[in-house]
Amino acid sequence: MSKPKICLIYTGGTIGMIRERKGQEYVLRPPEDPSEFLRYLKAEDEIQETAELDFVDLLNKDSTNMVPADWTKMAQAIYERLDRGYQGFVIAHGTDTMHFSSSALAFALGDRLHLPVVFTGAQTTPEIAHGDARVNLLRAIRVACEDLAEVVVAFGEYVFRGCRVQKKDERCFDAFESPAEFPIGFITEEILLAAGQIRTRPSQPEPLDFRPEFSDGVVQFSLIPGLEPDALRPVLHSELCKGVVLQSFGAGNVPNGGIYSFKGFIQEAVNLDKPVIITSQFPANSTLASHYAPGQEALEAGAIPTGNMTNAAATAKFRWVLHQVQTAIDQGRLSPADKLTRVREKMGRLYVEEMTPTEAPRGN
Ligand code: ASP
Repeated sequence: MSKPKICLIYTGGTIGMIRERKGQEYVLRPPEDPSEFLRYLKAEDEIQETAELDFVDLLNKDSTNMVPADWTKMAQAIYERLDRGYQGFVIAHGTDTMHFSSSALAFALGDRLHLPVVFTGAQTTPEIAHGDARVNLLRAIRVACEDLAEVVVAFGEYVFRGCRVQKKDERCFDAFESPAEFPIGFITEEILLAAGQIRTRPSQPEPLDFRPEFSDGVVQFSLIPGLEPDALRPVLHSELCKGVVLQSFGAGNVPNGGIYSFKGFIQEAVNLDKPVIITSQFPANSTLASHYAPGQEALEAGAIPTGNMTNAAATAKFRWVLHQVQTAIDQGRLSPADKLTRVREKMGRLYVEEMTPTEAPRGN
């Protein structure tokens, strides 16, 4: 029987790193030759039993250094290979920013994706015999053979939707969580996917709604008690700044008292035509509608809520939306006067199940 063909895209991370002694200490560094990745993992034989694997040596980075241009590169690498008979794609990636990349790729590849794109990584290097590098890779390959048509993260015992996941631990093998949604699958001897909650492979695949570009110039401020908005004003006025993320306390609450009030800061941003979105420092659940005055005043001042999106999904979507809106303005399809309204409208739309409630308007 012929085995499913899987494309494995290597981008770096601990899953492929080498441990190098430095006196009493050690450093973890990316391998010099990423094509040796599978050998480091000592996983070749085991993979042979599951799938026929093509290896793409795309990037070799600690994911701390990933930037939006890398998301575009990953999306393009998949897009170019869609007609090569692959059952699915696996992306080996560092854990530090995997949730940003998986969110970004979900938006870039869109809701007509017809096969699985499975991110995985590891907490240990492959040479740790009881570690998670080899097992996570093998599990991700199994998930990529399933009846699934979404961008997901397969890590430890779980499969998470790529745009709902965030990192929760930097040591435990159970390293990711999906704070506002149950995992969409469990990895046991079989892969148990949540029937009815996932997108499965369509019988008639349609052309992808492929939008792989992201804006630069997004700045984020994570709020702390006593943060003076005045200290942030020079950033707001910088030409490099095109949009602001305020990572709020709790349910979208942003200080509204005295010199610490962000009301004026948000209004100033709006006057400069720079959109401000509000995300949450907590596993997001209700930034769509704060019932507290500080949250409501931020929205009245012109800030854009982001539902129960994770911070990673909201910021990736913000960059994606900003790029599209700016392109429409540059091409004369949108009046600059309508910029903020269009950004708000698109941030409120649902593209790839990135938030609930799902009655938000869909697409485009
Ligand atoms: N710093 C590493 C990375 O994100 C951590 C990891 O892979 O777990 O690339």
